[in-house]
Amino acid sequence: MSLKLGLVGIGKIARDQHIPSIAADPRFSLVACASRNARVDGVANFADVETMLAEMPDLDAISICTPPQAHFEAALAALRAGKHVMLEKPPAATTRHISLLQDEAARHGRTLFQTWHSRFAAGVALARDWARQSTLTGGTIRWKEDVYQWHPGQQWLWDAGGLGVFDPGINALSMLTEVLPVEAFVHKAVLEFPENQQAPIAARLDLRTEAGLAIDAEFDFRQTGDQTWDIELFSSTGRLRLANGGGLLEIDGKQLVAAGPLEGEYPGLYARFAELCAAGKSEVDWRPFQLVADAFLIGERRIVAAHKV
Ligand code: NAP
Repeated sequence: MSLKLGLVGIGKIARDQHIPSIAADPRFSLVACASRNARVDGVANFADVETMLAEMPDLDAISICTPPQAHFEAALAALRAGKHVMLEKPPAATTRHISLLQDEAARHGRTLFQTWHSRFAAGVALARDWARQSTLTGGTIRWKEDVYQWHPGQQWLWDAGGLGVFDPGINALSMLTEVLPVEAFVHKAVLEFPENQQAPIAARLDLRTEAGLAIDAEFDFRQTGDQTWDIELFSSTGRLRLANGGGLLEIDGKQLVAAGPLEGEYPGLYARFAELCAAGKSEVDWRPFQLVADAFLIGERRIVAAHKV
């Protein structure tokens, strides 16, 4: 018997990745969608989560792919209605929201899967193995993309709680925290805010570990020309490059993995969600979000030219 699923927030990622991945997984049946404006053919459509939950009491699970500002209320309502919940990244608008949702899932005996799709990228598992067998000496993150190309018209990115350049940048931090054998924290940060927006267009993070390992991270939404979603790690004997958002892996200049952007990530997420629901477990790891929150807390703030969305 497949799980009856409701999808919340029908935008780019819902249509590009969630709907095809659900359709390809026999453990799920997409039966309903909740979105203020969008509609999906062939399923019941509702304007909000509360109405969907009230009118479709036999739903087993919901998957939320709205912007993070709308996650908490939707997830809370679904958990309270006894549904399993899968959350897109970034997980919420505040750190407290995440632990409250975790508590609520435990209280109702339901699964909360707080996802990081980039951790399912093709190169991540091997990168993790390499990092755990190496004596690391440092690293870099270069996450630079043209916001006009990848996020046209997405005002929510720039509103309070939208995270700006950290919306894609948190993907790098989700892979870093998965791959590193030790914990990293924000030592220093500089955030550049457009004078007319509430979220940064660029940021530099000086990440450290207790042992003094330094990872220098640059995030920029103003990139033209080549787009860069790369993590490099250096060891006493070699070098690892996890490029293209995690799909490409090179170790010491030798290419070991080559997958396309997002390839396999969303089918991997839904497979994991099905496993977690069957096992009655939750999976929550908000360390990447803590790093972003800490950058906002201690980062030096610079005001830069206005950004037109
Ligand atoms: P999007 O195209 O703007 O779609 C999000 C949809 O959510 C909107 O179309 C909107 O549909 C609904 N929504 C509900 N509450 C909203 C609110 N307060 N503000 C704006 N929209 C709201 O965004 P997206 O690119 O799909 O990204 C959504 C989430 O997925 C983000 O957290 C993002 O980080 C993540 N993600 C995106 C990508 C990507 O390639 N785009 C990749 C991985 C992850 P209605 O108007 O019908 O309600």
